[in-house]
Amino acid sequence: MKLLSVVVPCYNEEEVLPFFYKKINEISEKMIEKIAFEYIFVDDGSKDDTLQYIKKLAAEDRRVGYVSFTRNFGKEAAIYAGLEHSKGDYVVLIDADLQNPPEMIIEMYDSIIEGGYDSVAARRVTRTGEPVIRSFFSKSFYRVFNKISNTNLAEGASDFRLMTRQMVEVILAMKESNRFTKGIFGWVGFNTKWIECENVERIAGESKWSFLSLFNYAIEAIVDFSMLPLAIAGILGILFTVISFISLVIQIFGYMTLGHFKSNLSLLVSVILLIGGLQFFCIGILSEYVGRAYLECKHRPIYIEKEESSYDNDKSKN
Ligand code: UDP
Ligand code: MG
Repeated sequence: MKLLSVVVPCYNEEEVLPFFYKKINEISEKMIEKIAFEYIFVDDGSKDDTLQYIKKLAAEDRRVGYVSFTRNFGKEAAIYAGLEHSKGDYVVLIDADLQNPPEMIIEMYDSIIEGGYDSVAARRVTRTGEPVIRSFFSKSFYRVFNKISNTNLAEGASDFRLMTRQMVEVILAMKESNRFTKGIFGWVGFNTKWIECENVERIAGESKWSFLSLFNYAIEAIVDFSMLPLAIAGILGILFTVISFISLVIQIFGYMTLGHFKSNLSLLVSVILLIGGLQFFCIGILSEYVGRAYLECKHRPIYIEKEESSYDNDKSKN
């Protein structure tokens, strides 16, 4: 029988995990004829009793495996670790907070089997319960990202996705440590089916995303997948060099006709300042890339594992 790995990144999710586990078990019951399940919970350095709860589950249910990090490495690292430890012929990535409805797994699996897709992913079409300003920035992000990068990102794309082992292996082979997984999913290609889903509120606990962290996430995405910001620096550089050159020519011309500079010192100073400021701006953009290249060169591990459960494929069939 084939195996489906359910990868669940968890950061301070003790309140929701019991609900999640109950729900995902119901789904595995429903799919019992089709496929066997294994669960990989990734404890991303939780400060509450998430790990204790997962360990308890692992002791009771042989299908449960876990990985625990030494500290919080972020959801992207948790996803990577989960995929790395999964053994299934298919892998589904799902949030612990039940915002990704587990019942959709059935539809996703059927689409892969019957539709011949490599992956099936969920896309949020409604944003009820989300602050208007956040929706606005989120929508703008997708628009900008798609314009300036070659990687296509469906609007409202979530990480909730079921994929084949082949796709998982490809994603694992991408060892970059600044990971924007949604972009990587798009970048690797493969045939993806998008399923629309409604926005559901968290059942308990709170979102780990602040406005600032989302903003940083957007910057990460753009710098990881687009070279346009670098090009902007170049374009601005050329533009201001040309402008300053023309202004210099005009002043020299004035000097030749009048015999002296019509000189406006304050104007000169402001031009110098403007150029200086822009140079800093350009260097700032460059440094984003240089900084990342530097990190990438270090080949830092994506996460440092403290412990993991040991189990094997046969046991997972329960
Ligand atoms: N998560 C994680 N590490 C983090 C932040 C979040 O593993 O540093 C997990 C979290 O436990 C949840 C999922 O990623 O299962 C989505 O997080 P959250 O619900 O906070 O994000 P939102 O749904 O608000 O986008
Ligand atoms: Mg959530």
